[in-house]
Amino acid sequence: MSKKKKRRIRIKWKNLIIFLLIIILFFTLIIKGTTALYKLITTPKKEIQTKEKVKTNKELKLEKLDNIHTKIDYFNESYLDRYIDYKEKNKKLETTQVIKNVNMNLDKEPYSYKIPAKYTNTEKILVNKYYYLADDYEPDNLEAIDRKYALSNMRMVNTAKEAFENLSKAAKEQNLNIVAMSTYRSYKYQVNLYNRYAKKDGQEKADTYSGRPGHSEHQTGLAVDVYNKKEDYTRFEKTKEFVWMQEHAHEYGFILRFPKGKEKETGYTYESWHYRYVGVDIATYIHNNNISLEEYYATKIKDW
Ligand SMILES: [Zn+2]
Repeated sequence: MSKKKKRRIRIKWKNLIIFLLIIILFFTLIIKGTTALYKLITTPKKEIQTKEKVKTNKELKLEKLDNIHTKIDYFNESYLDRYIDYKEKNKKLETTQVIKNVNMNLDKEPYSYKIPAKYTNTEKILVNKYYYLADDYEPDNLEAIDRKYALSNMRMVNTAKEAFENLSKAAKEQNLNIVAMSTYRSYKYQVNLYNRYAKKDGQEKADTYSGRPGHSEHQTGLAVDVYNKKEDYTRFEKTKEFVWMQEHAHEYGFILRFPKGKEKETGYTYESWHYRYVGVDIATYIHNNNISLEEYYATKIKDW
């Protein structure tokens, strides 16, 4: 009798332990299962929500810019915030002009935002108050222009030099003198020149007509200042030679680099004597569309 009773109790204890183990196992599974299920439900949703939010923000920004990116091919998505800031500060400007101006970096102060010049040793190079050349940059293939068409030792990149000789020769056939009086200038030369101007007129005034070292187009070997041998170069605008240049310079690949009315874009006051070689195609486009090299660069060259 006592043996049977003992056995029953032992069995009951055994049952209780098994029961407890099952309960523990059950709850562990429930907790694990719920956690996994929770993760499954919440995580992907969160990710989708974030993505949708970013997309919406961008869409909103594009809407603020009248979705102009669908109409023009020079819209640079990495400038999105710059476009919006500039548009807010210039509410009267049309959106296309906003895009062009920011592409020309006009939302930044000249010389405060500096970018190394791209397309070095090509006709496409742009050097201005934003794009600069290294102090040791000297273009390849510099050659002196024939003395018939230039002062002594006026060097330009050979393609530009040949084009200039052809231009000057054609003008001479019309009894016009278009003579190169300043062409390639080294960084060092520009240091002295700019310092001299800054000393004479103050930096602010000097900046309106002279490039700071590294920012002068003359360092590219593609720029030329001309005169007609009779008048001072500052009066070139009043000469027959200037009229001829207005009609024909582009046929030889040259553009008037700092035109009237484009001062904000180029950063310089009007200079009737300063021309830049860009090749016939670009020169013709710029001439026909009456734009600056900056605008050409901002709208036609996609990597600027
Ligand atoms: Zn010049």
